[in-house]
Amino acid sequence: MRIAAGLIFAGAVSLCASGLAWSQTPAPKGAPVPQAAPAPAKAACANPNALGIARVVEIDTTGGPGFGFEHFKQLDFLRDHEVVLTFDDGPWPLNTPSVLKTLAEECTTGIFFPIGKHSTYYPEILKQVAAAGHTIGSHTWSHATLTNKKLNEDQRKEEIEKGFSAVKWALGAPPSPFFRFPALQHPPEMVTYLGTRNIAMFSCDLDSFDFKARNPKQVIDVTMRKLDKLGKGIILLHDFHKYTAEALPELMQRLKAGGYKVVKMVAKAPVQTIAQYDDEVLKDAKLPTVSSRPVSSVVQTISE
Ligand SMILES: [Zn+2]
Repeated sequence: MRIAAGLIFAGAVSLCASGLAWSQTPAPKGAPVPQAAPAPAKAACANPNALGIARVVEIDTTGGPGFGFEHFKQLDFLRDHEVVLTFDDGPWPLNTPSVLKTLAEECTTGIFFPIGKHSTYYPEILKQVAAAGHTIGSHTWSHATLTNKKLNEDQRKEEIEKGFSAVKWALGAPPSPFFRFPALQHPPEMVTYLGTRNIAMFSCDLDSFDFKARNPKQVIDVTMRKLDKLGKGIILLHDFHKYTAEALPELMQRLKAGGYKVVKMVAKAPVQTIAQYDDEVLKDAKLPTVSSRPVSSVVQTISE
């Protein structure tokens, strides 16, 4: 299914903003840990009761279409009881692999919006996200709120571009031209800029507010209450968060019980990064030109 480009920008302040949902420093590393094998790209689904994938939609990102009714009202492509799962702020040890494990068990999928810096800390985890067949976009370089008046226009562009360049470095290939603004704060000039870059923007239809949850049950309850009210939607979650990872198995069961179906969104073509920012990522993060850290240095197996 092709979705025509175009967007309507509908307000700079989000009703489902998620602030303070990230960290800027890598987790401390302990003793060497066992290696987790990357997930197979296209494994047959062994779970007869899996949530699965109802359909796949391909997005032509020409002109920077916007998705998620909190901000973008034009492209109402989801049918009743269809959802898109989205995961922000990774990759992160333990929690991202746990989310991947749950999604694999349910033979289903989501869109991941990793932070650029986190991608440089844990490229092997991000590679696992890609190897499992999930869609990957970007969520800026350092999770800066782009409406912050202390940032000038060049700095805002740099946050966007270095985010994509960092994800590209981590994966060894450019991700999808799918972008989510930190805290869902959309400065109008950056919406215009992303349009010129042919990058699709993702707000959300409903926010799980998982970054505020005090236990996994809250993540499930808030998500299902909002979803049952709306009947469908793009759901904002964070693979960065422990309670989200812990909530996900039960949330998958609740989606199934409610008759919800998962839609996979893929891009027609990958993002085209800008060489200047590819170089800046390498310099700023003091990275090798190829992603070469051993998996065992950063990836921990949750359970076998
Ligand atoms: Zn975020």
